[in-house]
Amino acid sequence: MLIDSFSVEHGMANAQIGIVGGGLAGALTALKLIRATTEGIDITLIGSDPEIGRGIAYSTRNPSHLVNGPAKNFGVEPQQPDHLARWLQSHAAALGWQPPAGVAFADSFPPRWLYGTYVQHQLEQAIAQNAGRVGFRHVSDRVVGLRRHGQGYGIVTQSGAAIAVGQVVLATGLFRKSATEPAEGARGARPSIHDPWHDQAYDGIDRDREVLVVGTGLSALDVILSAEDAGFKGRYIAISRRGLLVQERLDLTAWPDVLDPQDLPTQLSQVVAAARRARRSIRQNDGHLHQIAGAIRPHLPELWERATLREKRQFIRHLRPFWENILHRAAPVSVERLQAIQRAGRFTQVSGRLTGLDRAEDGSLAVQWTPRGSQVTRTVRADRVIGADGFEFDWRKVSDPLVKDLLAQGLVHPDDTGFGIAAHGASGQVLDSAGQGVDGLYAVGHPLRGVNWESNSIGEQLAGAIRTAEFIASRTPSGGVRAELEASQ
Ligand SMILES: Cc1cc2nc3c(=O)[nH]c(=O)nc-3n(C[C@H](O)[C@H](O)[C@H](O)COP(=O)(O)OP(=O)(O)OC[C@H]3O[C@@H](n4cnc5c(N)ncnc54)[C@H](O)[C@@H]3O)c2cc1C
Repeated sequence: MLIDSFSVEHGMANAQIGIVGGGLAGALTALKLIRATTEGIDITLIGSDPEIGRGIAYSTRNPSHLVNGPAKNFGVEPQQPDHLARWLQSHAAALGWQPPAGVAFADSFPPRWLYGTYVQHQLEQAIAQNAGRVGFRHVSDRVVGLRRHGQGYGIVTQSGAAIAVGQVVLATGLFRKSATEPAEGARGARPSIHDPWHDQAYDGIDRDREVLVVGTGLSALDVILSAEDAGFKGRYIAISRRGLLVQERLDLTAWPDVLDPQDLPTQLSQVVAAARRARRSIRQNDGHLHQIAGAIRPHLPELWERATLREKRQFIRHLRPFWENILHRAAPVSVERLQAIQRAGRFTQVSGRLTGLDRAEDGSLAVQWTPRGSQVTRTVRADRVIGADGFEFDWRKVSDPLVKDLLAQGLVHPDDTGFGIAAHGASGQVLDSAGQGVDGLYAVGHPLRGVNWESNSIGEQLAGAIRTAEFIASRTPSGGVRAELEASQ
């Protein structure tokens, strides 16, 4: 479904907003800008995908790729927790999906394509309901540069268009790390590593005997489910640095009294000590270790803001893989399929690093890897290799033309953690290389990874979109702002 273009001239530069990137973050930012303003606003969303609101996560058409939490967690209206469940109730059947028998819509884990459709519907509705004052234009193109243009910006696209706006939101999302490249330092045949979300990655896989999956997290689970659905009957070998396999999402409450909200720790070591105390108490009281993450997560923005750069780096280096493994869990039904594959002896997992890839004489691939903690290189045979080992968050290593252009101009500055760009956490306003707020330039979602740490799940993207939209709305000439987050508290 494509959102049709229409444009209304308001002649107020600040009320002309350009959004770069049409994935979830871009769509939510547009939606929340419409909600946050009361006067005329003109939004131009430039995204390289034909559809808005899908991006990498919600473009998949595979019905086995589910959102990783129940629908009650993922509505886009914070004041209405049952918003998504109600939408599913009225639209899902007509769109060809029903929750499993006996499961309420609120407790169901809908497919991700359907979630993308939900987001599109919300934006389309908001545009239609505000047609008199909101101009919305979707430009399907790639942004390659940004120029200061009077009081605003000129957005330069790959096709040569230049779009003048007053303010710009960067919702550029995720950049592939090794979709088609072996891990850093690896040598060998580059095209042999498949992009997990490219349909051709699974062509003819039913004839393969061994598939090597790089990664053991949520993306690796996507790969395995896609391969199964495409008829693969052979064996998987999954390789990841730490060997932390994706886990199922359990409906758990946060463990009580892990942190005192009135007196949050000021040091990482205090958070770790609190987690250890909670672990002891959980073991004594038959709890589940994942309940610790539930207790810490709500305070993460504040803890992250208080942390020193050294502590942030320590966290990233030593704790991040475990934190992400606990936090980013999958729908139980998806993990059950993986467990059945394991029980059938079709899944082997190794910890280590991919170091090379060659085509063997028999046409198969010889994958070189080094086990964790070892210097010895081993070789394993596979018929194909699919890369599901994550994304590149360090903008200095991203080869995207816009990223390079923004860095070269000093309009954005890499965050000191090496994740995303520097910005004011509260508004998403980008900081330049001198640490000054760049007038009229914002980021939402993944570019703020280093600033807010948790900025990538649906709830965090939504909160970020609302914060930035409200800040932008407060700067438009109309000044009319509806504070959605405040209203919901
Ligand atoms: C496979 C996967 C599954 C996920 N599942 C869940 C889940 O179940 N629950 C949950 O809470 N979170 C989930 N997430 C996390 C989160 O919801 C997603 O990361 C989120 O969709 C990211 O949205 P985004 O718009 O920031 O980025 P993206 O999805 O990467 O979209 C960014 C878009 O911007 C475009 N773009 C980038 N640069 C430019 C440019 N210069 N010009 C034009 N366009 C540009 C890209 O092409 C892309 O279309 C998942 C993430 C992934 C990767």
